[in-house]
Amino acid sequence: MNQASDLMINVAQRIPCTEAEGPGKRYALWVQGCPLRCAGCCNPHMLEVKDVEWLKVNDLADEICNTPNIEGITFIGGEPFGQAKALAELAQKVRVQGLSVMVFSGFTYEQLQRSNNPNYQNLLANIDLLVDGPYVQAKHSTERRWIGSSNQNIRFLSDRYEYLKPEVSGWDQGANTIEIRLKGDQLFINGFPHPDLTALLNAQANKASTVKQESVSSLLQESAQESAQESACKSTYKSAHKSAHKSEGKKS
Ligand code: SF4
Repeated sequence: MNQASDLMINVAQRIPCTEAEGPGKRYALWVQGCPLRCAGCCNPHMLEVKDVEWLKVNDLADEICNTPNIEGITFIGGEPFGQAKALAELAQKVRVQGLSVMVFSGFTYEQLQRSNNPNYQNLLANIDLLVDGPYVQAKHSTERRWIGSSNQNIRFLSDRYEYLKPEVSGWDQGANTIEIRLKGDQLFINGFPHPDLTALLNAQANKASTVKQESVSSLLQESAQESAQESACKSTYKSAHKSAHKSEGKKS
């Protein structure tokens, strides 16, 4: 279905179907490497530019287009514009197949527009929804569904999601959504958890990796008990439990 491409993407993580990274069910792709260092970034392990898993654009496009019941793909990170050339090509390929493209970037739309990097412009031209701007911890919001802080904006770069424009849908007024998954003995979270919950789970994850006898169930139980005492986490925690049965990573 795709023309041959030699381009590859350094992927930090991917989930074939999530409901916490944009409208509807989406394939989410986290890229490795980000030049920014936002305090409170919930994916600090994705900031360093290092080899994680290099995947061919063509293979990813095939995988995405053959994933059932999704309406689009979301690029997160890490910083997607750090791999703009390959992601633009991937975006183009999946859009031709009718899928939508959403991107989270730590750069503002204006910065991206002003750039004379043709790969940036090419990626912008293949995005339907862009969430732009760095995460600002002091402006953390628990009430913007897919978005972490109040300074960030959602840009409608095509008319595909007209119905989501704030004046039409009020989509921006729901609580953050997060999903929790267990893979073997590892706990994965995606969506935008409250910073206290992120810190708690990261601390527990570190503890679990050093104390090998600790079981995942006790880790979850402990996290749940401690989280329940954090009133600031209350709404986020509820969301976590609501979606824990559903459906990995965290986002820009
Ligand atoms: S929040 Fe996003 S833009 Fe900021 S350091 Fe983390 S990955 Fe980079």
